[in-house]
Amino acid sequence: MTRAQWRAMIAHLEAAYPEEGCGILLGEQHSALRVVRAVRPTPNAWEDAATRRSRFTIAPEDFVRAAHEAEQHGWDVLGFFHSHPDHPPVPSETDRALAWPATVIVIVSLRAGRAAETRAWMLNDAGQIAAVPLDMREA
Ligand SMILES: [Zn+2]
Repeated sequence: MTRAQWRAMIAHLEAAYPEEGCGILLGEQHSALRVVRAVRPTPNAWEDAATRRSRFTIAPEDFVRAAHEAEQHGWDVLGFFHSHPDHPPVPSETDRALAWPATVIVIVSLRAGRAAETRAWMLNDAGQIAAVPLDMREA
């Protein structure tokens, strides 16, 4: 992920605070290495506004649009990002239950509305969610 992509992701998540913000990461897969080519912020489509501080969902039409964009460029949907407002960037039980195989989950912890920590996670072969490295590039 480039610093510019990271900043775009963070700006969206900070704007959604104190609700959870979310979006989709598109890019290329070279065996174990994934290169983000586009960050696509999406609205938090979780219906119940009262619980949007701890829940998010991406509307099917937003996912379809992003998946189509990826296909046009020969990219894949690499994963999803979302924020944990005033909570650590560790997957919740819900995040674990909804995790897709071979798909990265980027979680950004926000404290008092500002990005505090970013971590990436993936389901491993044992079906457990494990931390994966997230490299930041200049361009
Ligand atoms: Zn979460």
